[in-house]
Amino acid sequence: MKPRDGSDGVLRWIQAKVAPNIFAIGDATGISVSKAGSVAHFEGDVVVANILSYLKHEDLRETFDGHVNCFIETGDQKALLIDFNYETEPLEGHFPGPFGLPLLKESRLNHLGKLAFQYMYWDVLLPGHDIPTVGSKMSISGKHLLSVSRLNDHGEIVTEKEEV
Ligand SMILES: Cc1cc2nc3c(=O)[nH]c(=O)nc-3n(C[C@H](O)[C@H](O)[C@H](O)COP(=O)(O)OP(=O)(O)OC[C@H]3O[C@@H](n4cnc5c(N)ncnc54)[C@H](O)[C@@H]3O)c2cc1C
Repeated sequence: MKPRDGSDGVLRWIQAKVAPNIFAIGDATGISVSKAGSVAHFEGDVVVANILSYLKHEDLRETFDGHVNCFIETGDQKALLIDFNYETEPLEGHFPGPFGLPLLKESRLNHLGKLAFQYMYWDVLLPGHDIPTVGSKMSISGKHLLSVSRLNDHGEIVTEKEEV
């Protein structure tokens, strides 16, 4: 199932090409991004808003920016953490902000973060709560970068420069 393309050819609205009244998230989509739990979760926010808009015969306003966030266990009680989207490759820095978990660096802290996520998944996300500072759209807070492109609320690509 291939969701509809944006004008730039990137898939954003989580809406099927075969029929406008079909939406898909998670592993069932043909979106060119990782098949991962975080992707299904982030797409969930977009699909709920867009189905509500569709039922009201309004334009679809929420877009998925391709946000992926994954721990990668590397053994010896260490892990990597990566955070990226359609426009931005995984960057170094910290997540979710300047004093968070190290990005693209093997560390014990990331392994502990992965263990703590089990509690957050069952007791925070599944009951329907958000994790503060972790949104569906990729944030550049804490990341080391020279320039980064991201989607604004209108689905337009904006490029920001400077380290944050
Ligand atoms: C071994 C493995 C390790 C992974 N590790 C990670 C990881 O560390 N981090 C990460 O982010 N992602 C990981 N993933 C990927 C992640 O699990 C998936 O991307 C995610 O679960 C997709 O969610 P989903 O809801 O789209 O699909 P699923 O979780 O597959 O849910 C689909 C559900 O639909 C049900 N179903 C299927 N057919 C029907 C039917 N006809 N009627 C009713 N129900 C049906 C299935 O039983 C299932 O419960 C891993 C995947 C695998 C296989």
